[in-house]
Amino acid sequence: MTMRSKRPTKKTAAKKGGSRLFHRGDEGRNRVDTEIERQKAARASNNQPFRFYVPVGETRTMIIVDEKPDVFMYEHNTKNPRTGKWNLFTPCIKEWDNCPVCEEHGDSYYAMFLTCIDLTEFETSSGQVVKFSRKLLCVKPSQQKKFIRRAEKVGSLRGSMFECTRDKQMESAIGGDIEFMEVIPEARLRKYVRSWKGNDGTKHTETCHEVFDYESLFEEPTRESLMALVGGTPTPGSAAQTAKDLEEEEEPDDEWEDEEDEEEEEVWEDEEDAEEDGDEEEEVDEEDEEDEEELDEEEEEPEPAPRRRRRPRK
Ligand SMILES: [Zn+2]
Repeated sequence: MTMRSKRPTKKTAAKKGGSRLFHRGDEGRNRVDTEIERQKAARASNNQPFRFYVPVGETRTMIIVDEKPDVFMYEHNTKNPRTGKWNLFTPCIKEWDNCPVCEEHGDSYYAMFLTCIDLTEFETSSGQVVKFSRKLLCVKPSQQKKFIRRAEKVGSLRGSMFECTRDKQMESAIGGDIEFMEVIPEARLRKYVRSWKGNDGTKHTETCHEVFDYESLFEEPTRESLMALVGGTPTPGSAAQTAKDLEEEEEPDDEWEDEEDEEEEEVWEDEEDAEEDGDEEEEVDEEDEEDEEELDEEEEEPEPAPRRRRRPRK
């Protein structure tokens, strides 16, 4: 055999120098940066709140809490290699740099972001019923005008309740049919605050009627972090390429699992408990509960939001 080598194959690269456990020498050291960048990008995507979503064949109701549509961003939605689901979101940097995600997966879309209160009731793994939750509403261009027009027409979107129906898989994830229902008065809106207790006893409170701090939700990714995230194709033979070759052999890391584990540990308090605790935050009052129940009846069998669904622990 001649020693003429092409690009090292995955196996030879990984096994050079003995045990495949180890990354050694320059490759090992270079990998540190790649790993940091990849984790950063994955974490940024991971830390985002759940997005409002309508399963095919269902209708879900939500209330917008923003005054007006004000936050737009080019974004990519890619398949999460770990779960096979299309729930890996990342900002696109094409406006000021070559975007590795554009190169790998095609053009990004122009997304409009709003905050909404999702009135879909769901049950946690511990059997607690959650009546509403705050979600990030990502509106694609074809539906943006609907919200912009409404904001222009009535001066504010805040409190606008919409019924979102999705008939087909091909329709928008937030529903193809978005129907305005009514405006929820500010006093009622302010009661959408929920509290729950973590396993360690820590109390968490989410003020669902407050707009997300978008600036802190979306961290500007670097070209390197996006490259690491999508496993782009750097120059053959470069340190980045070698790292990529090696990475392909690895199991995906378990950051996604970490988040789900954290979620699992949350024990939802019911509202009575919260009141006994002397919670100063306002809880949803009877009137609102009745409203929610009416909605539930309309929806027949409320299912837990799919993205909240727990996987059994391994
Ligand atoms: Zn891009």
